[in-house]
Amino acid sequence: MAKSPETLDEAGVNTRLAHIGNRPGDYHGFVNPPVVHASTVLFPDAGTMERRAQKYTYGTRGTPTTDALCEAIDALEGSAGTILVPTGLAAVTVPFLGFLSAGDHALIVDSVYAPTRHFCDTMLSRLGVDVEYYDPGIGAGIAARMRPNTRLVHTEAPGSNTFEMQDIGAISTVAHAHGAVVAMDNTWATPLYFRPLDHGVDLSIHAATKYPSGHSDILMGTVSANAACLGRLKEAAITLGICGAPDDSYQILRGLRTMGLRLERHQAAALELATWLSQRDEVARVLHPALPDFPGHDLWKRDFKGASGIFSFVLKVDTQAAFKRKAHAFLDALRIFGLGYSWGGYESLAVHVNLSDRTIAKAPSEGPVLRLQIGLEDVPDLKRDLEAGFAAAAGV
Ligand SMILES: *Cc1c(COP(=O)(O)O)cnc(C)c1O
Repeated sequence: MAKSPETLDEAGVNTRLAHIGNRPGDYHGFVNPPVVHASTVLFPDAGTMERRAQKYTYGTRGTPTTDALCEAIDALEGSAGTILVPTGLAAVTVPFLGFLSAGDHALIVDSVYAPTRHFCDTMLSRLGVDVEYYDPGIGAGIAARMRPNTRLVHTEAPGSNTFEMQDIGAISTVAHAHGAVVAMDNTWATPLYFRPLDHGVDLSIHAATKYPSGHSDILMGTVSANAACLGRLKEAAITLGICGAPDDSYQILRGLRTMGLRLERHQAAALELATWLSQRDEVARVLHPALPDFPGHDLWKRDFKGASGIFSFVLKVDTQAAFKRKAHAFLDALRIFGLGYSWGGYESLAVHVNLSDRTIAKAPSEGPVLRLQIGLEDVPDLKRDLEAGFAAAAGV
């Protein structure tokens, strides 16, 4: 009944998604694992308890439900182990707290997810870590930024909202030569379209809130580590008292089963709309790494197996004073696209992006940046909705 791991290693991605983390033989043949709600785990005798000599010892240290999800993610990431945390943001902050100490220097990509920057500029700085932002296009040039006390290099590709690509392999090689750990926020690509550990990354970070959840109803983060970094990562989560909740873990595992199919659809629809937008007079630029004329497209093509369903475009607007007025008119005319944060769900979303925190990867000057999450709706309907947005923006 249980598939052997070797069979799955050779299987296609959707076959793997259907069977990883799945041991029906352990649960009387039921296809899915039980949702184990647990704090206390009983031991058969005092000696076993003292030595903690059994698989499960306490709710914070894993259950059959969280193990099933971690096993599935390890299979996708090629990682030695995975921790579950309550949000995608915690999947950044927990490893940062685990691997950085007062007096250390951390290099963070300037196109980073904005709440990651907020954490670095407030709590991490307050704890005595010296934070420096670098150009996403730096590549091997990061060597010039390395200091004797550089302990962590954080990458995110493509970058949040503006989608700059990074040469992850080149950065990892330099960082390792200087004894630093490399983290990557890989939420955009998911492990289906990019496997960070294969490119030298030590810690692969995901907001499982996005595509693994897929339905805009779960918050969760995952961090997957190679063998060298796993012990310290796990220790950080245990020390901080952070773990994944049982029902949420179950739902994320459930989401993974259809993630391959959903991503195929998100990818195709987003690419069709991005191409269509790039041909419109009202659009100054489309920021999507799979478009051939996007800077960084070559890196995307070299390293990534696909693109997901979120990208931005720059609305062409003559004067800076009109950026906000035009952007709001566009957004307010949308009927299918919802106005909301986050992404990765089944429904399309739009947001006027704020890039005022950037120090190097600055906001485009041609107009406001509008980010689109392309959901699973029919593309002609989405096009009609965007056309209404353009008409409204032209009229104000
Ligand atoms: C959404 C997101 C996060 C944070 O996820 P939450 O679950 O909302 O905290 C982290 N990184 C990236 C790139 C994201 O898009």
